Amino acid sequence: MRFASIGSGSDGNGTLIANGCEGTVLLDCGFSTRETLARLADRGLTAADLAGILVTHEHSDHLKGVARLANRFRLPVYSSWGSFSSRLSGELDEKLLQVIEPGTGFQLAGMRIEPVPVPHDAREPCQYVFATADARLGVLTDAGSINRRMLTSYQNCDALMLECNHDLRMLAEGPYPAQLKRRVGGALGHLNNGQAAELLRQVGHSALQHLIVTHISRTNNTPELAVQALLDSQACVADIIQVADQRRGLDWCEIRPRNKAAPAGQLALEF
Ligand SMILES: [Zn+2]
Ligand SMILES: [Zn+2]
Repeated sequence: MRFASIGSGSDGNGTLIANGCEGTVLLDCGFSTRETLARLADRGLTAADLAGILVTHEHSDHLKGVARLANRFRLPVYSSWGSFSSRLSGELDEKLLQVIEPGTGFQLAGMRIEPVPVPHDAREPCQYVFATADARLGVLTDAGSINRRMLTSYQNCDALMLECNHDLRMLAEGPYPAQLKRRVGGALGHLNNGQAAELLRQVGHSALQHLIVTHISRTNNTPELAVQALLDSQACVADIIQVADQRRGLDWCEIRPRNKAAPAGQLALEF
C-alpha cells in the first residue's frame, strides 16, 4: 500500500490511497476539478485511475470538488447519508452514490476500509482506516476530541496521517474572533498539537513507519510546533515524520509489508 496527499489544510484536502494493481481511492476532494486533475497529475495519476471517492464530511475543504469530479468521470462516491444529504444531494448523480455507515467496514480496491465516527461539527462525519493483509493506514483529521472508539480504531497502524490543526497558545493569542476560536478549539472542532500528541502516545508503537502531520492551520500553528509536540510525546522518532502542506501536499509514501519492515529509526523514505 502507498499513499499521498494532493493538499492538506482549510483551503482544500485530498488523500490518495493506492493498493498496488487493485486500485487507488481518493479520500475527499476540496479542490475544483481543474485543480484536482493538476494535483493528481503531480502524483502521476488521472481521474480514470481512481476506483472511487470517499467522503469524510460535508465541509467545503473536503467536499467542494467531489460531485463534479465524480459526475464527469463516473466515479462512485462513498459517503455517509448525513454528508450526502447535507451538501451532495442535488449535485451528485445519485447513481454514483454508495451510502456507508460510520462504524461499519466495507471493501474497496482490495482494502478493508473502516469509517470511524468522529466528534466534529458536521452531520455524520467519519474518518478512515485502510487495511490490507500486510499494511494498515489511519487517516484522522477534523475531530475536536478523542474518544475510546477512535483510540481502538487507530491502534496498530503502520502509517498515520494525523491532524495537528493548531497550537493552543497561537489560537488563543491569534486574530480569530472569539466565536471562531471557541469553534476551532471546541470538542467538535479540530485536534490541536497536544491532542494529536496524546493520541499518538496512546496508539503509537515502535513499528510505525510514517507519521504525517496534516490539516495545519496557517494562522494558528507552524509545522515546527506541530512536529515538536509529536516528538515531545516520545511516541515517535523524527525520521518518520513528514508534513503534508496546503500547496504541494505530500509525495507518495510506501508502506513496507510488516514482516519486511526495518526498525523505525533506520527507515529510508521511498519515493
Ligand atoms: Zn477540514
Ligand atoms: Zn471539517
